[in-house]
Amino acid sequence: MNLPGAEEAKEAVRGATDIVQLIGEKVRLRRVGTRWSGLCPFHNEKTPSFTVNPERQIWHCFGCSKGGDVFAFLMETDKVTFPEALGILAERAGIELPKGERGPGAAVRDRLMQANALASDFFQDSFRSEAGAKARDYLAGRGFAGSILDDFHVGWAPDQWEALATALGKLLPAKTLEDAGLTIRRGDGSHYDRFRNRIIFPVETAPGKTAGFGARAIVPEDQPKYLNSSESAVFRKGSLLFGLPQARSAIRERKVILVAEGYLDVLRLHAAGFTNSVATCGTALTPEHARSLARFEVDVVLVYDGDAAGVRAADRGLDPLLGAGLAVRVLLLPSGEDPDSFLAKSSRDAFAALLAEARDVPGFLAEATIGSGPAGADPTLEARVRRFVGLLQRVEDPIRRRLLVRRGAEAFGLEEGVLLEAAAKGTPGAGLKSPRLARSGEGGPDRGAAKAPGAAPGAGTAEGESGTPRSTVPAEKIDPAERELAARALTEEGALRAIVEAGGIACFATAELREILGPWLEAGQPPLGEERDRLIGEHPLVRGILAIHPVEDAVSLEEQQRTARGLIERLEERRLRAAIQTLDRAIREAEQSRDSSLDRLVAERRDLASKLHQRSQSSVS
Ligand SMILES: [Zn+2]
Repeated sequence: MNLPGAEEAKEAVRGATDIVQLIGEKVRLRRVGTRWSGLCPFHNEKTPSFTVNPERQIWHCFGCSKGGDVFAFLMETDKVTFPEALGILAERAGIELPKGERGPGAAVRDRLMQANALASDFFQDSFRSEAGAKARDYLAGRGFAGSILDDFHVGWAPDQWEALATALGKLLPAKTLEDAGLTIRRGDGSHYDRFRNRIIFPVETAPGKTAGFGARAIVPEDQPKYLNSSESAVFRKGSLLFGLPQARSAIRERKVILVAEGYLDVLRLHAAGFTNSVATCGTALTPEHARSLARFEVDVVLVYDGDAAGVRAADRGLDPLLGAGLAVRVLLLPSGEDPDSFLAKSSRDAFAALLAEARDVPGFLAEATIGSGPAGADPTLEARVRRFVGLLQRVEDPIRRRLLVRRGAEAFGLEEGVLLEAAAKGTPGAGLKSPRLARSGEGGPDRGAAKAPGAAPGAGTAEGESGTPRSTVPAEKIDPAERELAARALTEEGALRAIVEAGGIACFATAELREILGPWLEAGQPPLGEERDRLIGEHPLVRGILAIHPVEDAVSLEEQQRTARGLIERLEERRLRAAIQTLDRAIREAEQSRDSSLDRLVAERRDLASKLHQRSQSSVS
């Protein structure tokens, strides 16, 4: 190919850059096994905790948690943007970058969009077919029928393993369907449908452009209730808004966007005439969402459930929205009600009345039960004011900020001067030095993740880490077997499957790992190339783990599964032994104090010991 796409060019530049040589020009590196190590250039240290892993093309500092790929290194040392870093390294490698208006990876995205468009047609046809009757009945039972279903191109995934794979397999390569997250590859190379026995909501970016799907189970046994397309070059939950194409003209007309949380919420709102409604696709609001909302230059109303989770979600959404320069109001429905359930019971006038009463940010913070304390705890006035001041610092527009200060003074009953002074000083703990570095949540694929503008996916975000270093468990502190299992879960489909079979996230004891890996285990797939790059860029723990764990030559799925099972067994055995030790201590104490719980403890220990015995028997045979 003479003119590769920008995504390909980025890969080519990365592949052509010798990461050890590049970093070696600025850091004195010594070889340690397959890795290289040296004194970190980004923090002061006497013993080296800076690591370069040439096989994975990543660098990571265990001391200050900075790290990423070659682009991230250049961005950090030379303080350049991602496009500049790409340009510098391309020139070094003698690679010509593509010019033109089309962004990176356009050809790949076109292919995936095409696959999704065909899949959407297939799902809609099957929705109207005889087999789709149970989906139509289900929706009719909840009061959804007629044109609203057509407007949103609602579909049905048949209760079969290969309906879509067979139908679309005649038109597209199996690999394309797999890349689009529509099918999943089995060990023998054949494919099965990702969505089965589910109502399908296509997530569209423009009329006829389908980025992916949300799929709702209609029987309680089918878990999870909602399943989305896996993340791909076109389906990035952190930037997609369901219902946007359908809502576009109403948003322009009414100068306001209602943001809800669910697919059915959007359908219900549109059906009730609130056609300026959209929803996130099972994620918190991210800065990317906020930026696409900001393009409309209208106000945003968050319409969430008034329960604790809804309040928290609304609170978290304020950072990215205010950071993007949006005026925000919050409508909290009665606890336990989402827009769908509320409008199913109440009139549209009742909803309109609530909407008219939606609180502005100071009003919301002054009234709602929010804060960083334990769930349900009512934070002090001081905590609320501090939160408000933290948010004020995100608002760049001086007029809007001034108006917010005035409203805040009213809502909290404080002098404006106090708020102004606090905002000018900055609040320690708010950690909001720059809205550019805004992060929406604690991270993890399902929380969505902020990225410095201009940083392309996979560029690594060393820059982001310098703003507000998240608290993270150092990779070396984690049990080596658990660490290896995590590394394999992030890179090997076979390992991921073995973990899912063995109980999923329960295999991991480290909370942060559970949070990072949870969504991938739920999806039944390890992160794809670009997604993995993003995780490496955003999570020091992921980077640390992968920096330590060596790359293996290609092994079969079965072998991957076997190795992972071995690790899981070792971990379980170790946990059993630890539990027995704890019991032994308790037994000794009970013996000494002639405690009545002694019999129970002894029985419990016998139970655990026999479990451990069975385990070692079965692993011998
Ligand atoms: Zn460092």
